[in-house]
Amino acid sequence: MEPIIVTQDLKKIYRLGKLDVPALRGADLVVQEGEFLAVVGPSGCGKSTLLHILGGLTSPTSGHVLVDGNDFMTMNDSDRTRFRRHKIGFVFQTFNLLPYLNAIENVELPMEGTKKSKDERRTRARELLKLVGLSEREDHRPHRLSAGEQQRVGIATALANNPAIVLADEPTGNLDSKTKYEIIRLLGKLNIDQGTTIVMVTHDSHMAAHAGRMLFLSDGKLLAKERQGIHLLKKELTCPHCGKEIQPDDTFCPRCGKEL
Ligand code: ADP
Repeated sequence: MEPIIVTQDLKKIYRLGKLDVPALRGADLVVQEGEFLAVVGPSGCGKSTLLHILGGLTSPTSGHVLVDGNDFMTMNDSDRTRFRRHKIGFVFQTFNLLPYLNAIENVELPMEGTKKSKDERRTRARELLKLVGLSEREDHRPHRLSAGEQQRVGIATALANNPAIVLADEPTGNLDSKTKYEIIRLLGKLNIDQGTTIVMVTHDSHMAAHAGRMLFLSDGKLLAKERQGIHLLKKELTCPHCGKEIQPDDTFCPRCGKEL
């Protein structure tokens, strides 16, 4: 495996008037191609800042970032936009769908301005909605979709230009517990089936445990300890006693009540 993301001594200080707010205090990170990495930490520890720097949306105050061998700092704005559009897909906690476009139009949007024709954009968007299990919802606007369905459309949108990397910022933060697992399962499936590198930041250690690897961010620094996760796809999600659906963290079957 080759590293696809490397950061060295990454620091970010926001300036609020005369106040300096340190968000990252020297983050060193190596993400291998094809990894599903979760970065876990409490609110305010610098997770979104880290993700935004990895996606070239924010510049670090100091330190280095290489994404697929490229340094955002040496790119001009249009190169950076082009690079981001083709290499990186973003998934957000708040889904970031346009309310006046339906599901398929939302997925087509990132392909505008690429070489794809209108028909090719439609075909690709259709394939992606199928991939996330929403073929039946192409014509639905976001307000007619459940939160979990909106996040599925958000993921399809992130994949529109077939990015090598998906950066997900609290992708399950606005979802109920059953839907959270569906979304983590979907991310795991993309990672395994398509080899997409995924970096997810979250405060939710239960969700993070289903990535391939967990790193802990504390006070702007990545801690040396790390844990292997277990892809949800590899877990049995039916009760061995009654065969009904269970959730990964259940210790008793909610249907038959037997210990799992
Ligand atoms: P997390 O995603 O872990 O909640 P953030 O990266 O959003 O953490 O924020 C890290 C710290 O930086 C927090 O103290 C936050 O208040 C501060 N911060 C984030 N964005 C800005 C900004 N644009 N201006 C000033 N301070 C900010």
